[in-house]
Amino acid sequence: MLGSNLCQSVASLLRPAYLEALSRWYRRAIVCGPDRPAIALTFDDGPSSQWTPEILRALDAVGARATFFMSGDHVERHAEIARDVVAQGHEPAVHLFTHDRAIADDSARFRKELIDSIEIIERVTARRPAFIRFPFAYLGKQHPDHIEAEFDLRTVHWSFSSMDSRRDADRVVTRVQRWLFPGAIVLLHDGVGVSSAHARTRDATVAALPTVLDDCQRRKFAMVTLSELFATGDDAP
Ligand SMILES: [Zn+2]
Repeated sequence: MLGSNLCQSVASLLRPAYLEALSRWYRRAIVCGPDRPAIALTFDDGPSSQWTPEILRALDAVGARATFFMSGDHVERHAEIARDVVAQGHEPAVHLFTHDRAIADDSARFRKELIDSIEIIERVTARRPAFIRFPFAYLGKQHPDHIEAEFDLRTVHWSFSSMDSRRDADRVVTRVQRWLFPGAIVLLHDGVGVSSAHARTRDATVAALPTVLDDCQRRKFAMVTLSELFATGDDAP
């Protein structure tokens, strides 16, 4: 126990430098929220008919809200599930349309995918997205400042990945336990990106989630959407 407390203390001392380096690396994209007892769970690559409904049930069981970075082509295919995500209080966000890494290097294609993604999310969920995460976190020729200026979308990376693509639920639980801190933005997945070279299943995410949520509750972290995480004044969690 002493060992793990010591590790936690060292980790919290090193955290500001780590987060600063991470944000710099991602061209000043958002990598964490304010230092208060709230965290943002984020789910990429959905919606999917196999995993999103179960993930929604697990979140609902503990009253947690999350942000879903949706692929436009999956929103098109699973419009009903995308609507369920928003109806249950979660936030839809942009993860472009085809999950093609190369898109970030082709500004004309990128722009079209971005516009199409915003349009389909807005049409299906009746909610305009406020955040974007690039597939594979690859920014290519794009810059967060330009995207925010033109599309009013803030680019979000993550504080740490749950490593749920490695398909080992126990390791996902341990990873989140070890890395969680106030204001953290956690990467998880509720679908599989079309061109993703990693996991073809999200069974590990579904299996790990109830324990992850229990841990967050036990540590008194409010599980909120990204818009809530960055809310100020009376709206802050
Ligand atoms: Zn993705």
